[in-house]
Amino acid sequence: MDDMIKEFDADTTVLTPNRRLAATLRKRFQAWQIQQEKLCWHTPDILPMTSWLERTWLEYISQSSTSTPLLLNLAQEQFLWEKIILFTKESDRLLQISETAELAKSAWSLLRQWQIDTHHPLFSNTEDYLALHRWAEQFQTQCNEKEWLDHASLPDKIVQLVDLNTITPPKKIILIGFTELSPQLKKLLTVCENKGTKVKSMQAVHQQAETHRILLKDETDEMTTMARWALSIFVSQPNATIGCVIPNLDTSRDRVRQIFTAVFKKTEAFNISAGKSLLNYPVIYAALHFLQLGKTVSRDAFSFVLSSPFLGEAERERIRRANVDRELRQTNIHSFCLASYIENLSQHCAYLAKRLQQYVDQVSAHIETQSYREWANSFNDLLTALGWPGERSLNSEEYQTMEAWLALLTEFATLDYVAKPVSFRDAVLTLKKMAKNTMFQPKTPDARIQILGVLEAAGSPFDYLWVAGLDDMTWPPQPKPNPFIPKKLQRDLCMPHATAERELTFCSSLMEQFKQSATQIIFSHASKRDEMELQASPLIKNILEITSKDFRLSPYQTPCENIFAAKQQETICDNTAPALTQDVTIRGGVSVIKQQALCPFKAFAEWRLHAHELENPLPGMRAKDRGSLLHHALDQIWKRLENHATLMNLSDNELQELIIDCIEQACLSVIPALHERANYIKLEKQRLHRLLWDWLQLEKTRQPFKMLTSETQTEIQLNQLKLNMRIDRIDELANGKKLIIDYKTGKHNDVSSWLSDRPEEPQLPLYALLDTENTIGITFAQLTPGANCFKGLSQHDLNIKGIQATVDWPEQLMQWKTILTKLSDDFYNGVADVDPKDADQTCQWCKLKSLCRINEESEITHDLLFN
Ligand code: SF4
Repeated sequence: MDDMIKEFDADTTVLTPNRRLAATLRKRFQAWQIQQEKLCWHTPDILPMTSWLERTWLEYISQSSTSTPLLLNLAQEQFLWEKIILFTKESDRLLQISETAELAKSAWSLLRQWQIDTHHPLFSNTEDYLALHRWAEQFQTQCNEKEWLDHASLPDKIVQLVDLNTITPPKKIILIGFTELSPQLKKLLTVCENKGTKVKSMQAVHQQAETHRILLKDETDEMTTMARWALSIFVSQPNATIGCVIPNLDTSRDRVRQIFTAVFKKTEAFNISAGKSLLNYPVIYAALHFLQLGKTVSRDAFSFVLSSPFLGEAERERIRRANVDRELRQTNIHSFCLASYIENLSQHCAYLAKRLQQYVDQVSAHIETQSYREWANSFNDLLTALGWPGERSLNSEEYQTMEAWLALLTEFATLDYVAKPVSFRDAVLTLKKMAKNTMFQPKTPDARIQILGVLEAAGSPFDYLWVAGLDDMTWPPQPKPNPFIPKKLQRDLCMPHATAERELTFCSSLMEQFKQSATQIIFSHASKRDEMELQASPLIKNILEITSKDFRLSPYQTPCENIFAAKQQETICDNTAPALTQDVTIRGGVSVIKQQALCPFKAFAEWRLHAHELENPLPGMRAKDRGSLLHHALDQIWKRLENHATLMNLSDNELQELIIDCIEQACLSVIPALHERANYIKLEKQRLHRLLWDWLQLEKTRQPFKMLTSETQTEIQLNQLKLNMRIDRIDELANGKKLIIDYKTGKHNDVSSWLSDRPEEPQLPLYALLDTENTIGITFAQLTPGANCFKGLSQHDLNIKGIQATVDWPEQLMQWKTILTKLSDDFYNGVADVDPKDADQTCQWCKLKSLCRINEESEITHDLLFN
């Protein structure tokens, strides 16, 4: 290494394949100078190849007296490719213009690197090759006409200028860390050599590398062992540099970070090189979400606004906004006009309403189309109006992310060079796409442990190196030729990812580089991924195998195991809440008793803690809305009919009209905004009409009766607990006795649900207790297409199919009174055991599992029984 660094004199430009290696070499150079006890030294010219090309170009244009082409930035190039593809005939068949443009751009870059002309006869072989040929022609034409220069053509331009002596190349170029050079770069270096430049290629070599391979159980075990190995060196050798290389790091970044953080218990010790899309940073995602709100906003989108911490006064109005969200979800509204909703919102969340009003006013004030620069300013204004990024102070990562956002807006504004003014919607979509394509990683302090991807690590020197993921399915990777370049050309010219042989050769070179990058090197692979068995890659098969025991690592426990091991278990039976007091009103009516019977904890959580699940709007009407519609329609019908005789006297036509009229009335009270879902509601009315018609035919078969009450609100006192009730219907039979009816729209109704110590449907038994003297029976009225029927119990045979006479009605009433009063007392006294009546059935759809922790309880019971 020292020999290499000695060559970095003032006349030398050192070029690397990536920024990381350039930074490492600069640091090593400084360390070496200090080691030599020098007090001052020249700054070495070390930079990545791409930066050198751009710098050379900038130096040239700063000195040029004639007009020079504009070097496009990556966003401008992408935009240009998209525009070209969008306006060609192929675009009709393309679903993803952006992705296709990305692929075409990378094909174009490969063509330039491998110096291939799209006029090559092989480009006429397939539609895809021809398409690229046409797009590339247009791209070149536009660049020539507008005097633009793209990055793929930049080296060729510099070759011309060096050849013409317009650019003077450095006296000496040292290439470090390159696995291969494209023909385009080789040509550039040859031209430089012809002009007197000395070109030299070097590698950071460790002569006596100790290399081993290791097999680990799975990828988690592999990452964890790697992290523990790194930790042991980190602790025992304070100056050692450690490289941890992971193929596909961009997709596994979060998992790797989690494992290393768990092992190191802090994040400052290591540095992960893979960034993630700027759009995936919450503060940026929120900004783009706000900009996309539009005039009509979906409930989902607005829920995001209400719960976002990145808006003004988000902390101050947090609870109010959460309540608005909950209420909005209950309405089953899918979308609404933002401007009209603001007035309603202002009654609950005044700050948010004010900000949204400013936002709406500003959006409405925009003219149809604007330049990108103007949109960038408008977006800033809109976000400022909303109070983005919120009132919390930003942490370091968020602060850097905000800086990246500003840089993105600046780049967005440069699209004016290549594009015409656009609409608000198109401008937001373009900005979002750019954010998605921008990889960003907040800067972290320098760390001795570097976690890198394969290409980034190649050529970088370390003291210790671990390369993971070298199984036979991953390494070498499957070939992936570019679909727009003739395969034969890619094969013949041995282009990147063209063939399996090419991948093998390339990976072999990388392996050779790795083997010289450190003094101790570990290559690893997992024995399985998901359910797939894995073998060692053929490239590491011949390396001496070791096991993790050879590392002599100190014992390790995962955070979960640590917590579990540190537990000091104390059992507290806390299943009784404070008793209610007389002045507390419990809403929920009969549901309280129902829940208490099904699971005391559920009743306690729902009616005393108010732990209700948040609703999510459904397409069409929810079951509860349909039920409500049916109840309203039947209420209207029986209020008009009043008795069985009137029903019998109506002609079919009159009955049809009555049903239609009552459904209309019901719709008005249940669904005020009919116009929003007119077609759907029309179908629902037809369905309801058929159902009610059939049901009234069944009612006609009964003995004469008179409807006594319909949808009556009443209350019942069970010891200290007073419960509100709404009784669907009470009929007075010919003998003056009452039959209580409860409408049900489902099929699974059974009188057995009234007959246990924990009745699943206690409503009707409870109603029966209101007037035990005069109540002769209770019944479900099951309104289900094709299965209309009564299901009930009565004192005597009522001659109604489905209602059975019980042996001892007064005894049954007494039993119900005892059972229901006990349930009521239990609830009042705070009995809140996690005790589902039937764990499989009762818990199946219950949303309180995370609160009652029934699953954890089962696990603990299991542990106690089996350990
Ligand atoms: S999940 Fe089961 S045990 Fe838990 S509250 Fe619901 S019904 Fe009760």
